Amino acid sequence: MILVSHLLVGAAIAEEIKSVPIAIFLALFSHYLLDFLPHSEYSIKNIGEGKWRHSFFDFFKIFLDFSSGVLLILVLAKNPLIALLAGITAILPDGLAFLAFVFPENKLLKIHRAFHHIKTHSFRNKKIPLFWKIISQALTIAVTIIFLLK
Ligand SMILES: [Zn+2]
Repeated sequence: MILVSHLLVGAAIAEEIKSVPIAIFLALFSHYLLDFLPHSEYSIKNIGEGKWRHSFFDFFKIFLDFSSGVLLILVLAKNPLIALLAGITAILPDGLAFLAFVFPENKLLKIHRAFHHIKTHSFRNKKIPLFWKIISQALTIAVTIIFLLK
């Protein structure tokens, strides 16, 4: 899923679970769980292919995605610092996936990337209409915003 979805779910978990360590753990776990849901993501093909000189627009999309999630957390969360910490934790697996692009020879990053991309994104082998891939993500964002607003 896109970063804003993961950030908001991590923040919503932190707002609901009062134990910070448990909230952080659940926020991390939520990333893999959410990535199991069929979803679509914007392309970061240039980063994926290591075409760094052509990656500006990819990084710009990531920046917009990340900053809108952070902004929503700062505006909506009752305890923004903890919610932001949990939100950032929830996007760590995508950070590790990015590092695997930068350091393709690192074995741990390779293993994580294989798990993250192949195991959790297993729906990619199934024909699921784009509509449902967008709805799953839109619902995730809407539900977490409602959660943060309560
Ligand atoms: Zn992911």
